[in-house]
Amino acid sequence: MITYSTDEYNKDNESQDIHCLFCGTKITPNEEDGIVGDCAHIMFTCTSETWDNPENSKEEFFTDFNIEEDLSDYMDHLEKTLDDSYLLVISASHHLDAVYLFKQK
Ligand SMILES: [Zn+2]
Repeated sequence: MITYSTDEYNKDNESQDIHCLFCGTKITPNEEDGIVGDCAHIMFTCTSETWDNPENSKEEFFTDFNIEEDLSDYMDHLEKTLDDSYLLVISASHHLDAVYLFKQK
């Protein structure tokens, strides 16, 4: 898995949307209705507080994962189990990080 980090806001304090790098679909939730974008490549969408209740999950990424027994966190688990056809984009903000997992098809 490849990880890329960006900031939710650019240096002019404008919100930076996340788009799928393969097809260009906007994945960041709409401001009006909060609906998260969808395309063939986005596999998993959550925030740093919703790993166990993601906005979108198209594969079972955490079936062998027990946060109680396994001291590594969710991101470590993905790093150990996914190959480089997966790209994890982290959109960091001061209170909550958003996590977007894409897969090249
Ligand atoms: Zn796409």
